[in-house]
Amino acid sequence: MKLYLDPGHGGSDPGAQGHGLNEKDITLDIALKLRDILLNEFQNVEIRMSRTGDTTKSLSQRTQEANAFGADFYLSIHINAAGSSAQGYEDYIYPSASSESKRIRDIIHAEVMKVNELKDRGKKQANFHVLRESKMPAVLTENGFISNAHDATLMKQSSWRQKVARGHANALAIAFNLKRKTVTNPVPTPAPKPAPGQNQPKPGVLYKVMAGSFKERKNADEQITLLRAKGFDAFVVTTTISGTIWYRVQVGAFSSRENADKHLTLVKKAGFTDSFIVVDDGGSSGNHNGSSPASPPSSNGSGSSTGSNSGSTGGAGNGQNENNGENSGNTPPPPSTQGYSILGPTILSPNQMNEFVKTVNPNAPELGNLYFTIGEYYGIRGDIAFAQALHETDYFRFTGIVQLSQNNYAGIGATGPDRSGATFQTPEEGVIAHLQHLFAYATANPLPNQYPLVDPRFHLVERGSAPTWTDLNGKWAVPGTTYGQSILDLYKRMLRFSAENLENLQKEIQS
Ligand SMILES: [Zn+2]
Repeated sequence: MKLYLDPGHGGSDPGAQGHGLNEKDITLDIALKLRDILLNEFQNVEIRMSRTGDTTKSLSQRTQEANAFGADFYLSIHINAAGSSAQGYEDYIYPSASSESKRIRDIIHAEVMKVNELKDRGKKQANFHVLRESKMPAVLTENGFISNAHDATLMKQSSWRQKVARGHANALAIAFNLKRKTVTNPVPTPAPKPAPGQNQPKPGVLYKVMAGSFKERKNADEQITLLRAKGFDAFVVTTTISGTIWYRVQVGAFSSRENADKHLTLVKKAGFTDSFIVVDDGGSSGNHNGSSPASPPSSNGSGSSTGSNSGSTGGAGNGQNENNGENSGNTPPPPSTQGYSILGPTILSPNQMNEFVKTVNPNAPELGNLYFTIGEYYGIRGDIAFAQALHETDYFRFTGIVQLSQNNYAGIGATGPDRSGATFQTPEEGVIAHLQHLFAYATANPLPNQYPLVDPRFHLVERGSAPTWTDLNGKWAVPGTTYGQSILDLYKRMLRFSAENLENLQKEIQS
């Protein structure tokens, strides 16, 4: 299937503007996300984009390109604008469009509306250049109003743009009956005689792409679930290194090193950054890859015996060092049955959280609502997570190595002065990452999928290894012997503060 994908406007033409946003930036980001989904997850998709950066291109250039490309479908992505009250999603076909355009538009409309959280303004027709001059079926989508506060707030969120891209991708998959990519093990083909010094396939050698290596089978199985959710076929192979059994997750095997490298790049791009290649020369040893020269049992980070450094500064104020505990090959201390659980309801309101932090830092960003709602979604105590964020960021004063602009409230990946940690595009994305990281520790259940996985270290966590806040000691922060207690103490102060406020309010009403 050949798709001409056209993010509206660009370069000297910003498109619609409002709420600090340019249409050209939103359309480009959605289109790039859509391209990545289609190329990563589906077979036989060829995509030409009108632009992949902030460049100027006329409408007639776009349609000429699409026609010359011989696209099967023209998809143009736009953002609407009008007075401040107009809001919602609509899509367009040409007034005398083919029945094929109508069919595809109906599917796009249904699939995008399922995920975009916008008002449905209906299916429309218009004499737009790109619909009229393109020779193939064509649809133009208008994904919300940049001039409307509600819609613009969504547009600012990377997670929303991802959802819109996902909706379009789902629609195209249905409309064009796209087959998901499954990675099978190709039978090694008899290879031509390798020319000396050249990178020719070696007969009988398989390059296996592994997405992680685990000491516990259940963690390997969990990884497989995550891989399948992203369209990769995967299975477990066991191998024994120095007498220890490892569960490796294989996502493909290739007779050419080059193809294996390409696949490895794809797998890493999909978020499985600990993937690596194992060379299997068909050796006799009985285990799958015992003789592999490229097997890096200690460099993959996910379960290797050296482990991988995690996460966090362990509190901006207390100078505790980073955590070495995430998924280290050492047997983690068994989860306690005592202590206060990470999973549970959120007691304090968003307002109570915001008011508390402002007693210390009047300029603190108001994140109470995000911790409340996203905490509820993951079943995590959002108010204690909020307390943890205050501990990590010194009440959002960011006096440690992480800066406010990083939206990284849990110090994820910040392990030292030259490792300033992850950066998230929006405060929402930062809170999602924080709660996803907590979720990884709190339970081995699969991550609910309303939000895309944005925590870059999710896969490094020994899943379910810390069901309580004090179980995080020595894991989230090292040595961190009182890390969980500090968070709970801070939380108790939040509770007292809110109780006093309520008491004062009660007195006010009585008097
Ligand atoms: Zn536009």
